[in-house]
Amino acid sequence: MSAPPPGPPYDQSQYQYPPANQYGEQSQYGQQPVGYGQPPNPASPPPSQAPPAHGGPPSHQGPRGKRQYAEQAYDFAAGANAGVAATGGYPAAGGPAGYMPDTAGVNAIYGQQPQQLPGQPQAVGGYQAPQASYDPNQLAGQFGQMGLGGGAPAPVGKTVLNPLVPVDLMHNPFNPASIDLPPPPIILPPNTSVTPSPHANCPPSYMRSTLNVVPTTHNLLKKSKLPFALVVQPYNSLHDSEAPVPLISDFVISRCRRCRSYINPYVSFLDHGHRWRCNMCGLTNDVPQAFDWNPATQETSDRWQRPELNHAVVEFIAPQEYMVRPPQPLVYLFLLDVSYAAVTSGLLATAARTILESLDRIPNADKRTRLGFIAVDSALHYFSIPRDSTEPSMLVVSDLDEPFLPIPGDLLVPLEERREGIESLLSKLQEMFQDTQNAGSCMGSALQSAHKLISAVGGKVVVLTASLPNLGAGKLEMREDKKLLGTNKENGLLQTGNSFYKSFAVECSKNQVSVDMFLFSSGYQDVASLANLPRYTGGQTYFYPGWSAARSEDAYKFAKEFSDHLSSEIALEAVMRVRATTGLRMSTFYGNFFNRSSDLCAFPAFPRDQGYVVEVAIDEAIARPVVYMQTAVLHTTCNGERRIRVMTMALPTTQNLADVYASADQVAITTYFSHKAVEKALSSGLEAARDSLHSKIVELLVTYKKELTASHVGAATPLQFPANLHGLVVLFLGLMKHIGLRKSVQIPSDLRSAALALLSTLPAQMLMQYIHPKFYSLHDMDDACGLPHPETGEIVMPPPLPLSSEYIQPHGLYLIDDSQTQFIYVGGHAVPQLIEDVFGLPGVEHLKVGKGSLPILENDFNTRVRAVVDKSKDMQSKGVGSIIVPNLYIVRSDGEPSLRLWAHTMLVEDKADQGVSLQQFLGALREKVNNS
Ligand SMILES: [Zn+2]
Repeated sequence: MSAPPPGPPYDQSQYQYPPANQYGEQSQYGQQPVGYGQPPNPASPPPSQAPPAHGGPPSHQGPRGKRQYAEQAYDFAAGANAGVAATGGYPAAGGPAGYMPDTAGVNAIYGQQPQQLPGQPQAVGGYQAPQASYDPNQLAGQFGQMGLGGGAPAPVGKTVLNPLVPVDLMHNPFNPASIDLPPPPIILPPNTSVTPSPHANCPPSYMRSTLNVVPTTHNLLKKSKLPFALVVQPYNSLHDSEAPVPLISDFVISRCRRCRSYINPYVSFLDHGHRWRCNMCGLTNDVPQAFDWNPATQETSDRWQRPELNHAVVEFIAPQEYMVRPPQPLVYLFLLDVSYAAVTSGLLATAARTILESLDRIPNADKRTRLGFIAVDSALHYFSIPRDSTEPSMLVVSDLDEPFLPIPGDLLVPLEERREGIESLLSKLQEMFQDTQNAGSCMGSALQSAHKLISAVGGKVVVLTASLPNLGAGKLEMREDKKLLGTNKENGLLQTGNSFYKSFAVECSKNQVSVDMFLFSSGYQDVASLANLPRYTGGQTYFYPGWSAARSEDAYKFAKEFSDHLSSEIALEAVMRVRATTGLRMSTFYGNFFNRSSDLCAFPAFPRDQGYVVEVAIDEAIARPVVYMQTAVLHTTCNGERRIRVMTMALPTTQNLADVYASADQVAITTYFSHKAVEKALSSGLEAARDSLHSKIVELLVTYKKELTASHVGAATPLQFPANLHGLVVLFLGLMKHIGLRKSVQIPSDLRSAALALLSTLPAQMLMQYIHPKFYSLHDMDDACGLPHPETGEIVMPPPLPLSSEYIQPHGLYLIDDSQTQFIYVGGHAVPQLIEDVFGLPGVEHLKVGKGSLPILENDFNTRVRAVVDKSKDMQSKGVGSIIVPNLYIVRSDGEPSLRLWAHTMLVEDKADQGVSLQQFLGALREKVNNS
């Protein structure tokens, strides 16, 4: 049986996600939501929706198409983008809820541009140490000092930290654009770094702290109720060329003899520049001679040009002593499901073809990359790819009790040398198994064999399966019962069903074997158990519910993601350690790795698309104005080079609680609590996870009120919080309503488990969008949107809207995007011209809902809409390496109810499913805070 032919992309009957019927349910989101905000009466928009006072109605300046969509249906100014049309800037007052940008205060202080559209690159200054921290007069002096070989830093004066700017959460709606703003600036005393480089402090895309001002004592931290943690993302891209980091290749690595920190921009030089003082522990160390003399060219060199004194993020090429064995080659061992389910869904054919077409993309610069293949059903099928022939042979092992390895030499072969044989095998795989009726899967036993095959070398085991492992080692049961969903017993389904998956994962980690899971089952697959393998081995779980190669969007999504995954320049045999100023201690680590010792995280393979969280404890009172933290990732590149990536961050300290709050980073804090919530969900259950989030936000609001605001009495008491934490309430609400955590009787546990895996691995920027999706109004977007910015060339995006259905007009067109799924939401009253321009169809009634794509049409508006949709999923432009190609669904407000309700669950400010609206949430919080 061969893979079914690709079907029509717009077939309504084919959309599968949410798997409405897959688990025998009528509708996953069958409950009718209540309380969606009433859209304003389009015939008489309230005065607050009037276009900006200057220059007349913007619709008259709009392009032909836009004017038509607007005028044929409703007054243009009623659209969600109404307030921004004329200026092309920021949403001014005018949304249905009297929506006001809240960042004005923050921006006035931090000097950031509130008008910055997400499509424009961040101003460089936003990610750097603010210029203000360098006194220009002192700068000149410092240059002079450096000419003399460096001297003591200039005397440190009183540094003015970020001021506390309170906002009233009840009366200042949160502006979602502020999530993308850089965190509160890190303001260091003048001349804290030894060079005046603007790159001396770590950009938040690599490492950001929940607190950009650090309390000097444990007691002050405890009093703040805020977490102190680092969000670490050592790689910003899948490939080095997309986010280059300065490389130090002369093998000169100067480290502190005592604390083993790497030399960095915050050390100080003394003794005529012959010694350097460690900024972590204070010990003085010798400066390597090579800092001033290049033995290769026999010339003096300028130490002030060295990258490690100018850049917070650098990479060293490591000499011999950083290796326990010669750098291992890159190894990919593929475990391919060849059961009936995998063959008939088209998984085997698509996977084999994608590997075949990606052979040139798999990193192999050193020509040592090795590949191997094991086909899995109720037996293990090994493939020997011999040197002297291009015809591979298959060896079947059905005894799962003692699975042996036949002819080890030819099962794992060099890609360069055996290319022909590999190509021959991949092009025949589908044919070999096309008539199978085998419904068995001994994937656990296959994993054991794979481990045996590569444990001497280490490497990646890539599992592609559409089955629940039902035979041999690690056998799993069909344990999901939909009656359990939404009850306390649901928690058990999120935990591992067979201890094999944890113990085997630890075994893999010891032998430098990392496992990635690509899961495709059309029924229950026990993602909760299978996800343990990636969790402890530095891998990832990718879940494709209801996937079928017959749907071209599904085939494209998987093939593109899998190919990008294979091309990714992963690191091997990696360990990560975080060092800090004496008195600070790394206490807890979150993410996909194995904690080998108290402070060492081990990664058999280090992925480029994940983030980590490290909690910091303050063990001793800190007497210094600045503390430092340094993350080092020792690894082997996929081209066989041993390297160390080092990231150094400097943060000012304070004894003042207001300073701590004023510089707290809502994105980093939410990332930390996302990891904590996943941990809590797995250990104590979903309700406990939601409750702890709820208690925490109450505790923070109470602390802020009691410690940092003047007392108010009476019903008009505002609910105050610092402007820089304005988004925290909405982000916490988004987290509590997330598919991974929300209260519901209808979410299959596999979807939950896959979501929990993402909540605990996504890099912060992507995680925020996963928790708080982007929502854009397209039908009335400004003329500049969807086109390249004249200066930057970046596609200009419309401003993101608050996640409330109040912004949805019956004639509108919207994009909702949570980074994994995109919805094109079409109002049932959309005018024919809009549907014609965007979809090439005569009217909204012809539009088929479900998984689909946007057609490419020869008109401006179609081009601009596609540009916005593409830009929205372009993670690289946001400084995140990701393979994810979001599924795109066409949704009609009058169409298929389960799909529409699913799209509405992304609008976290609404009341829906069993969750409260933002207004209800805020009201309840205010009551709790005022009664505490
Ligand atoms: Zn030291």
